[in-house]
Amino acid sequence: MGEGRLDFSRLVSFYERLEATTKRLEMRDILVELFRESEPGEAGKIAYLTLGELYPPHTGVELGMAEKLAIRALRLVSGVDEQRVEELLRKTGDLGLVAEQLLSSKKTQMTLSLEELTVEKVYGQLERIARFAGEGAMEMKVKTLSGLLAQASPKEAKYLIRLVTGKMRLGVADMTIIDALAAMSGGGKEEIERAYNLCSDIGLVASTVKSAGVEGASRIGMRFGIPVRPMLAERLTSAEEILGKLDGTGFAEYKYDGERMQIHKQNSHVLIFSRRQENITSQFPDVVEMCRRGLKAREAIAECEAVAYDPDTGDMLPFQELMHRRRKYDIEKAAQLYPVSLFFFDALYVDGQPLIDLPLLERRKMLESILEPSENFRLTEGIVVSDSENLDKFMLKAVEAGCEGVIVKDISPKSVYRAGARGWLWIKYKRSYVSKLTDTLDLVVVGAFYGKGKRSGKIGTLLMAAYDEDADVFKTVCKVGTGFKDEDLEHLTETLTPIALSRKPARVESIMEPDIWVRPEMVLEIVGDEITLSPIHTCGWGAIRQDAGLAVRFPRFTGRYREDKTPEDATTVKEIMEMYKSQLKVIASGEESEAA
Ligand code: ATP
Repeated sequence: MGEGRLDFSRLVSFYERLEATTKRLEMRDILVELFRESEPGEAGKIAYLTLGELYPPHTGVELGMAEKLAIRALRLVSGVDEQRVEELLRKTGDLGLVAEQLLSSKKTQMTLSLEELTVEKVYGQLERIARFAGEGAMEMKVKTLSGLLAQASPKEAKYLIRLVTGKMRLGVADMTIIDALAAMSGGGKEEIERAYNLCSDIGLVASTVKSAGVEGASRIGMRFGIPVRPMLAERLTSAEEILGKLDGTGFAEYKYDGERMQIHKQNSHVLIFSRRQENITSQFPDVVEMCRRGLKAREAIAECEAVAYDPDTGDMLPFQELMHRRRKYDIEKAAQLYPVSLFFFDALYVDGQPLIDLPLLERRKMLESILEPSENFRLTEGIVVSDSENLDKFMLKAVEAGCEGVIVKDISPKSVYRAGARGWLWIKYKRSYVSKLTDTLDLVVVGAFYGKGKRSGKIGTLLMAAYDEDADVFKTVCKVGTGFKDEDLEHLTETLTPIALSRKPARVESIMEPDIWVRPEMVLEIVGDEITLSPIHTCGWGAIRQDAGLAVRFPRFTGRYREDKTPEDATTVKEIMEMYKSQLKVIASGEESEAA
């Protein structure tokens, strides 16, 4: 691996170009150029930095220095007082821009006399900043950052500040980086994507492609302690459609309403990863113990849904109850008060053997063979179904048992575990689709309006958007102001006001102008009565009718903050279009039976 040689100023010039476009193809081409210029050792670091990260998510080490501290470092190098910084920050809403402004007006041209910053050096210093802990850590963070800023040009300072405060957001998605790596190698997208899905480590993939090409990347496999990106389900609204899609037969399993966990076991060592590949082991000592005892393999990677239950009745409890387990203190006590049951549905790796390319039922057999079942530790309920009547019966049983519905899975020879993909090998069928829209949507907050009367000064209504996968943008679908408790509105005001933007974020498409814009980050669960055509929302614009998009009618917040979802995991524009179309079908069949 060669010595890093790319100047940070060069990287920044690429970032300026990336920031200036919202077109995915253009972004890809810029990234191709960037990766071409980098050494293998640098390529990984560049991949992380471009996504605003330092390491893959499972390491748990994040940038995200408090803005207050970054301001202190800025004041040290620019010599201006706090008031001035605050004032500029209020105006621009972006501390990066403030840094750029302050450093360009600085008289002393210290930077000229100093060595150029390189990507290697910047990355090394950012690692130090992220890792300082304990007594004196704040001081060290401020000192290290001001050291970097002192050597930086105004433009470099802009990105340094955005990086350390965790606000990089160039609008580049991980899949755009994958596309760029493939384009740079002249193909091999499938292999590169597969490698990424198996190791969920964009930096490792980038550096491997640079040093050993696509062939090298295709040797990346599953490893203990490295989470595999989860396979996800499509959705349909009737048993007939589902069986039609699966060539007549499928394996229907209860869809438990809990939290997905990917369990990694090696001897007595157990790790738990969330749906977003975070390491959540420390929050679930009880799950660790259950897996130590109940998974008989020496080495295994298996997936389950953890569901909270009422210890007095044994009944399954809704998802919200699990949120009590997301805490840092009194973990043992919480584990007793809010115990969980584990329902296993897949095995990806057992004792040296990767299973992901085997068909579903073979993986399940393997899973069964390593499971020592008990009341709260077992396989999901499931049956093979080939007719819609049985599927609907099974669905009712699932709902009766406290589940959200069922997931019907392909069992043909091609029914492999497709890491990181949402596809038709798994199809979810939730009870509420059966008639009208009482199903929930997971929507992204992109803007907010202040309340009136007793709510004035506080956020009262949110502008919500769905995710458009093709364009990688967020399109608005409703304004929601119902269902919030006072404490919700306080929480939203506190969280959203500091990150408010005066301009629309690049990845948001909206006709409405809210009082404040926010970057698409927070996902909330919303219910509504139905999907209607709308002249003011951009979701599905022009797809059903010219000059109209789609909106959720009578939206209400369910009380559920989907912290387990990234904005890209939100309900998609495509799904909302499907919902709209299936409503029409229900209406049409209702009309038919009325006519009869
Ligand atoms: P949702 O909000 O409906 O849970 P999602 O986007 O999190 O959707 P989907 O791919 O739509 O995920 O649905 C699969 C999810 O359902 C899994 O991530 C898992 O958490 C949960 N689940 C519950 N029971 C099962 C099961 N038997 N097989 C697979 N996944 C299951």
